[in-house]
Amino acid sequence: MADEQRATLAILGAGPVGLEAALVAARLKIDFIWLERGQAGEHLNRWGHLQTHAPLRTLVSEIGLEELHKAGVEEFMSPLDELATGRSWRDGYLSLLLETPLLLGKLQKSVEAIAAGRDNRLREDPRKPKEPLGPFRIFTRGPDNKERHCLANAVIDCTGVLSTPRPFGMSGLPVPGEASCRDRISYMVEDIMGADKKKYANRTVLVVGAGISAATAVNQLVAMAKENEATWIVWLARGSGSLPVRRIPQDPLKGRDALAASANHIASRGEGNVEFHHGAWVDRLENEGQDKPVKVTALVNGKELSWDVDRILSLCGYQPSRLLNRELRMPWETTLDLPPTGIESREQDLSPGPSGEEPGWYVLGSKSYGRASGFEVKTGFRQVRAVMAEILRVRPQEIAKRLAA
Ligand SMILES: Cc1cc2nc3c(=O)[nH]c(=O)nc-3n(C[C@H](O)[C@H](O)[C@H](O)COP(=O)(O)OP(=O)(O)OC[C@H]3O[C@@H](n4cnc5c(N)ncnc54)[C@H](O)[C@@H]3O)c2cc1C
Repeated sequence: MADEQRATLAILGAGPVGLEAALVAARLKIDFIWLERGQAGEHLNRWGHLQTHAPLRTLVSEIGLEELHKAGVEEFMSPLDELATGRSWRDGYLSLLLETPLLLGKLQKSVEAIAAGRDNRLREDPRKPKEPLGPFRIFTRGPDNKERHCLANAVIDCTGVLSTPRPFGMSGLPVPGEASCRDRISYMVEDIMGADKKKYANRTVLVVGAGISAATAVNQLVAMAKENEATWIVWLARGSGSLPVRRIPQDPLKGRDALAASANHIASRGEGNVEFHHGAWVDRLENEGQDKPVKVTALVNGKELSWDVDRILSLCGYQPSRLLNRELRMPWETTLDLPPTGIESREQDLSPGPSGEEPGWYVLGSKSYGRASGFEVKTGFRQVRAVMAEILRVRPQEIAKRLAA
């Protein structure tokens, strides 16, 4: 076939975990193709204005620091012992690494992996036990809509979850009327105090959700309301508790826990121009015309309530997309959408999903946690090392030794 690329390994995605996979592969001299739908750190940039929950030092790897040191660009790094923002994590670490001799020219930007399957087979074709299955074939679309295939013996899918927000309607379905109000809804915490201030100051804002993103938004909106007193926040959570945000016992990410505690305090005290309702499902949205507020109707403990709101923050989490993996035998776990990571080790934090049926196809990073929150990039770095040991058929300790050499 014309214009095919071939390599031992294909890495999909250039977030923190995809970048770590590329670093490790390059250091171990594994030849690889590396595809990214946008730019490196594309998803970090979407929340570039927000702070990380822990200092940058916890978000980078030893070998990443070594490569920056060798390239003599440490002075351009973001400070390691301070909290980063999404943007400073990207600009002061990921983007610098792309320019180091080890990774220079390796990333194919603006190339999306659309679908993948086994070369010369359909998913339903019979397979004999222990039969060699051949490489994976990946269909990609690049700049100018250029479409091509590439082949790789192993694939590391680190495409994250941020592009597929979960709907905020009843039973996890889209809300009737949502599409017609799309321009008033954000599925991420926008730059409330900065570039997006006009959308929030002295406006009525609906926040739906009870995770850390919702906690972040509510904290910021309350701060905004102190200076812009006509700001009004309607916060709806599905659960029955008056403390909506679940706190992780002894949360290692102190910043995350502080946000959760503060948001729970706001919900229980009803302070700061906030009305909080638990037991609430959004039932419908009505677009009453451009420049007019959206009419939101919700069922709150079975009773119908309505508000006219200017902006909606739908913060109900994210889920992995299955489109890329549709032609593969992927037995997803059915509660949290956990994919099989493909990692042989059954260590729970490395591989929370079920066992797979596609040897050589690995799902790492935040996508490996499906709908569950709580993934930490350090876990992703450990996943990367476990996979490289499998690809090279050596023990994990051997990978550590080779990387240190
Ligand atoms: C406010 C905030 C603070 C956080 N603080 C912390 C913290 O302190 N500590 C911590 O460990 N984590 C933190 N996180 C979470 C952390 O950002 C994520 O866990 C991390 O980004 C996951 O990395 P990843 O490489 O798995 O995926 P992502 O960063 O989501 O990267 C996926 C990449 O794949 C690309 N992609 C998607 N689809 C395709 C495709 N089909 N083809 C090619 N490329 C594709 C995307 O463009 C993207 O660049 C925080 C998150 C937020 C929002």
